[in-house]
Amino acid sequence: MSFSLSQRWQPRQLIAASSFILLVACAEKPTAADALPLTPAQPTPTVSLPTQVPDTSGDIQPLQTFAQWQASFREQALQAGITAATFDRAFLGVTPDMDVIKADRSQPEFSRPVWEYLDGALSPLRVRNGKRLLEQNAELLERIEQRYGVDRQVLVAVWGMESNFGQFQGNKSVIRSLATLAYEGRRPTFAQDQLIAALQILQNGDIQPEAMRGSWAGAMGQTQFIPTTYNTHAVDFDGDGRRDIWNSTPDALASTAHYLQSSGWKRGQPWGFEVQVPAGFDYWLADGAQRKPVSEWLGLGVKLPTGTQLPAGSNQLPAALLLPAGARGPAFLVLDNFRAILKYNNSSSYALAVSLLGDRFSGWGFIAGAWPKDDLPLSRSERVELQNLLNGRGYDAGNADGIIGANTRKAIRTAQQSLGWPADGYATHKLLESLR
Ligand code: CA
Repeated sequence: MSFSLSQRWQPRQLIAASSFILLVACAEKPTAADALPLTPAQPTPTVSLPTQVPDTSGDIQPLQTFAQWQASFREQALQAGITAATFDRAFLGVTPDMDVIKADRSQPEFSRPVWEYLDGALSPLRVRNGKRLLEQNAELLERIEQRYGVDRQVLVAVWGMESNFGQFQGNKSVIRSLATLAYEGRRPTFAQDQLIAALQILQNGDIQPEAMRGSWAGAMGQTQFIPTTYNTHAVDFDGDGRRDIWNSTPDALASTAHYLQSSGWKRGQPWGFEVQVPAGFDYWLADGAQRKPVSEWLGLGVKLPTGTQLPAGSNQLPAALLLPAGARGPAFLVLDNFRAILKYNNSSSYALAVSLLGDRFSGWGFIAGAWPKDDLPLSRSERVELQNLLNGRGYDAGNADGIIGANTRKAIRTAQQSLGWPADGYATHKLLESLR
């Protein structure tokens, strides 16, 4: 999937996707809109929601009471093979959760710059904890690497990003949250599918209803899997007969490895590396859809920072050029393993954080380039204004929804080109002002 700005708790779904498309914006964190939009993600939900949906929230009024909804959903669940006993036990005392509705409808005005997001994600404490856990779980990680072919550093990095190594898993009842979202959320069909999957998990006996806890969006356990992802990828690695991603570290880490394996992880390959882009570079090439062998990028003048070298064997691997903060900020060539991480959470800032965190465990992963800290992300209303201005000038930015997706980025590049600026597709205050 792509580099997206996704901030919405994105479900990990295996949605097919081409690269660098912007998917959703996160309810909690809006996103910035940018070239390869990076999104600051939250503590991170993994599994998130598939695609961005226009916010019709204010208009949604349930047409039925919760009890009426529950009765009709019960029929649906029974038809899907859920037993009456499972359903009734799971729904005992369940009422809608107003906090979930609020979270689902929130559309934050401001986005966090990617450098601030990375500072939080790569805190020295998290790096230290990760190193310690790599040592403590060395034998387990060795077995997981053998079984799934996924490198231990990325597993521990995902674990750190998703739940701070199991410490922050979310404490909401998954059934209650999903029932609330199915009853009156913005994506009722998605929530219903997740709810059926959650009931299947209960029916299978992997976890008791009271212990099935997660984020408001239904992401569960140490790996923050949504229920459908759990059903396809959670594994029982400690052999006790239950897939317990909440309490069993072997189950959680092996489940993550299983997911990354399915997402195309290639053991021993780098995720990518930092590069420097020459003056006069054609920034239209900095787009996830433009993948070329590393050697071709080098032929175009892209260089490694002084003192670093090309990871062994990467010369012919396909790579895309990622500019998380536009042409003025650091640049990276990202390879197939970076794409595998995006399938966990479709946000390029998330994937960059996981990648760099994994490197930090080994003592590298520091960025040589400087972030353009004078260039804060546009707010949501500024992004809408920019889209309207672009459309007014005849550059087709698509719907003015405040989300910088592929169309908007293309419109920005065209506008930048006509101004004689680097066409990086990155939304800046300078561009907004020049169009006003
Ligand atoms: Ca188990």
